[in-house]
Amino acid sequence: MLGFMVALSLLGSASSQPPAEPGPGVSETLAQERAAAIKDLKYELSFTIPADRQAPVRGRSLAEFTLDSPRRVIFDFAQPADRLAAVRAGGRMVPATVRDGHIVIPAEMTRAGVNQVEFEFTAGDEALNRNDEFLYTLFVPSRARLTFPCFDQPDLKARYRLSLITPSGWQAIANGSDASRTLAPGTVTTTFAETPPLPTYLFAFVAGKFSIETALRHGRTLRMFHRETDAAKVARNRDAIFDLHARALEWLEDYTDITYPWGKFDFVLIPSFQFGGMEHAAAILYNANGLMLDESATQNQRLDRASVIAHETAHMWFGDLVTMRWFNDVWMKEVFANFMAAKIVNPSFPQLNHDLRFLLAHYPAAYDVDRTAGTNAIRQELANLDEAGQMYGPIIYQKAPIVMRQLELIVGARRFRDGLREYLKRYAYANATWLDLVRILDERTREDLAEWSRVWVEDRGRPEFTTTLRVNSSGRLDGLTLTQQDPMKRGLVWPQRLQVTLGYDGSVKELPIYVTGAETMVKDAKGLPAPRFLLPGGGGLGYGLFVLDAGSREYLLNHVEDIPDALTRGVAWVTLWDNLQASRVDAVSLLDAALRALPREADEQNAQRVLSYVTRVFWRFLPATDRVARAPALEAALRAGLERGRTQSEKAAWFNAYRDVVLTSEGVAWLTRVWKREQLIPGLRLAEPDEIALAMELAVREAPGWEEILKTQLDRTENPDRKARLAFVAPALSADPAVRDRAFARFRFVENRRREPWVLESLQYLNHPLREKHAERFVQPALDLLREIQQTGDIFFPGRWMDSTLWGHRSPEMAKTVREFLAANPQYPQRLTWTILRSADELFRVAGSG
Ligand SMILES: [Zn+2]
Repeated sequence: MLGFMVALSLLGSASSQPPAEPGPGVSETLAQERAAAIKDLKYELSFTIPADRQAPVRGRSLAEFTLDSPRRVIFDFAQPADRLAAVRAGGRMVPATVRDGHIVIPAEMTRAGVNQVEFEFTAGDEALNRNDEFLYTLFVPSRARLTFPCFDQPDLKARYRLSLITPSGWQAIANGSDASRTLAPGTVTTTFAETPPLPTYLFAFVAGKFSIETALRHGRTLRMFHRETDAAKVARNRDAIFDLHARALEWLEDYTDITYPWGKFDFVLIPSFQFGGMEHAAAILYNANGLMLDESATQNQRLDRASVIAHETAHMWFGDLVTMRWFNDVWMKEVFANFMAAKIVNPSFPQLNHDLRFLLAHYPAAYDVDRTAGTNAIRQELANLDEAGQMYGPIIYQKAPIVMRQLELIVGARRFRDGLREYLKRYAYANATWLDLVRILDERTREDLAEWSRVWVEDRGRPEFTTTLRVNSSGRLDGLTLTQQDPMKRGLVWPQRLQVTLGYDGSVKELPIYVTGAETMVKDAKGLPAPRFLLPGGGGLGYGLFVLDAGSREYLLNHVEDIPDALTRGVAWVTLWDNLQASRVDAVSLLDAALRALPREADEQNAQRVLSYVTRVFWRFLPATDRVARAPALEAALRAGLERGRTQSEKAAWFNAYRDVVLTSEGVAWLTRVWKREQLIPGLRLAEPDEIALAMELAVREAPGWEEILKTQLDRTENPDRKARLAFVAPALSADPAVRDRAFARFRFVENRRREPWVLESLQYLNHPLREKHAERFVQPALDLLREIQQTGDIFFPGRWMDSTLWGHRSPEMAKTVREFLAANPQYPQRLTWTILRSADELFRVAGSG
């Protein structure tokens, strides 16, 4: 601390000293200095993309900006110095080089007024996602600097003019509309019109062999680029995909009172895309699998598709039009996109229970993180964009929308919407912080939103609620008290609106309350008959661990299916699962309850959720011997569900659960006949991805002829991307441990980790519970690689890497390995420590050392 102070004062007093080096990454200090100094930023960019994906992509960039006075200007370019061919400022050569990922233009090469700095360079491939027939950029959060020299921070928005020289026969898509296409022998040059102001992370281009579908909706042309080879599949999906976009656009224009801000509207379906989607302005990228659904798609998959489309479309306003000032507020754009998505998809699925949908889409995933010691706050400190990727996760995607719904309840829906409209108008094409929005909303309510925000948004964790029921001699309630405490022992109290559900045989009673302190009396409960069960998280509203009292636990485990409404059943299941994780419900009781209740579960969303609990209990909470003992009954129950299923999507849910847990040789033999197309399942058509999944599950079980099954599957897979993926994953499925060792050893090299979904799928099979013992050797090296994974991979990769490694493990030895790793690395980055603690949480619980 002292040394730091001395160093600072030395720098401050010696004005002749050269200015401090910016250091690696993009620090908050550097970003703030640049945002204050640089105005009216424009980039003119050109890239030459060769057909051969090994050949370098060369680029030219011209950055134009205004300065108040001459000053040192620091660009970001995270590549070796030899990738930079030339730098000119104001037409003069600059003897600049790359250090720590920066190019420094000295003050004497700049001037007051308009400046132009030109670069000739070779782009790095890291953020270009190069494939044989296509590439796409993915610059979030600060990876544009891997590709071209720029100011890689969200609050230096720029207008972009781009041209791409690509092999002839390739399409090119970017944020701007196509201004011209010029053909030359072997190449085509596409020039795009200038964009409105965009941050670097939203600037994007895609080039390659794509098919185009075009549709006109509400006077607007929508274009879809894709690589799907199955024409029938395209025909089956295209109208639904366009309609979902059109509806989202219309809804958002109405809600925000702002016309779609980006002119044209294109989207691209990318095979094996890293995320569900990415909201590049006017050029959204999607994971192709999420949009092009098979006939066997479940209702959940259709909902997920509608949600991801609404989510990315909402970003065109929330995130793209108004952008966070710094990536610590990245959650805001995600919460609004999710929040709007929930509002948008509702009218598209009138037959659905949307409160149940919200509950199941948000609470379980948020709790999976928030119950762990590795949880994080919604809003986090972020000193350098190097670490921005670690801001992402279920806390911002799932918890934040829950918190935002509470905020809307506190402020009121109309005033909340009006506040958002003001926020979007005031900061359009610019940047804003969470506190800017809190100020706008605070003027509209009497509640203290700053204090509310401190607990819900700026601190981590969740409350733990217990209930105290007092019943008098005539069987009526004398009192009902809710007590909340902070499991992290900081004494925090989470103010929130709750709906306490009192359950009776065949009916429920809801009592709304506003919890503001540690203890809350539910006044309206007095005099009511004593309930059979009590759910303080009723209506799917309250957030926290709601510890079940003994009576409620017994009743729900034995009668959950008797609850008349689907939402309360959903709350009951989520609460039971959360109590299982808190060691207050045992796994076998929950499994029995699930298998008993499932045949009577009329709501498909609940059925899917319970089936997923069945799978998780089976693999994670049951020892291997118990699994074998329980397998025949479990498989019989799932087969019965499959036969009973009324729709393709219901049948698919049961079939997938069956496929994932099957253990008996009869079951494996039956699945093999299904895979061989000898055994048809009436009402369920399996598409190529289903057959691939089936082949892989058969292989990991070492079904007779598994090698031939994999080989045949590879041969009969038509889609080239799926074929390549299966070829990549196949070694991880081998019955030969030496082959599996080599399959893992590949991942030590970054070039073998580029296709992250392939890597994760391989890891999941390597660490499958059926191979738990052998896979113990992968845990330590996976931990050792995590830091490198975080530095070289995309934002979700570190967490998924750990999840995919640890999911199949339940031994105390592996829990110990993880704990010892953390203990041996006290200087390990805090966020990465949290990543490990999150992924290891269930392992710690089942291994009994938590
Ligand atoms: Zn998003």
